[in-house]
Amino acid sequence: MKIILMGPPGSGKGTQASHIAEMAGVYSVSSGDLFRDNLSRNTELGQLAQSFMEKGEYVPDDVTIDMVMNWIEEPQHSDGFVIDGFPRTLAQAEALDEKLSNTGGVDRVVFFDVPEDDLVQRLSGRMICSSCQRPFHKMFSPPQRENCCDYCGEALYQREDDKPDVVRNRLHVYIRETEPVIDYFEKSGNLRRIDASLGISEVREALKEVLR
Ligand code: AMP
Repeated sequence: MKIILMGPPGSGKGTQASHIAEMAGVYSVSSGDLFRDNLSRNTELGQLAQSFMEKGEYVPDDVTIDMVMNWIEEPQHSDGFVIDGFPRTLAQAEALDEKLSNTGGVDRVVFFDVPEDDLVQRLSGRMICSSCQRPFHKMFSPPQRENCCDYCGEALYQREDDKPDVVRNRLHVYIRETEPVIDYFEKSGNLRRIDASLGISEVREALKEVLR
């Protein structure tokens, strides 16, 4: 299955992506994680992406499309995948459709619907594992040991772009650039909406239901 998870920053896509991928027996990827990985290894791509990410702006389409297409082309991803955070612009959506046109296209696009006020609260309490990138939340899903990842034991940190000013800009950019992509997939008939303002396990159930 080829599954795309869409929704505003903080809507919980990352929390669900790896779980759904495990269930479906495929790999998952987050375009934001690919950029952060490049940033931490100080690659040319990471250096290019850094200034956009710091401001909460989107990285230019050509660079982003290349990066995600390279991931899709890896042989272990040919049977299917879960992608979180891509496509976010119409150009990215069209590039993805073209890429998958010979293999039946995207099977499901799931939109995570959450009111804006909840998003700010969620993002400001989010903590990420510095090693495996799993997300936690100070209030909603705290780790068992303070500041330590439940999965690999490494330290948690707050992303620079989860700080209030950048969060507001990320939400504006999302409304401007990504809402048209939701209409694009709605027209294709593949889009399913879930109420992602619920708790993690309820959202997981809703997600399973729309992927059935
Ligand atoms: P995320 O972890 O999904 O919130 O992404 C973090 C940052 O990476 C975003 O604010 C953008 O700067 C960049 N980014 C991630 N995915 C994309 C994308 N599909 N298009 C453009 N920029 C992206």
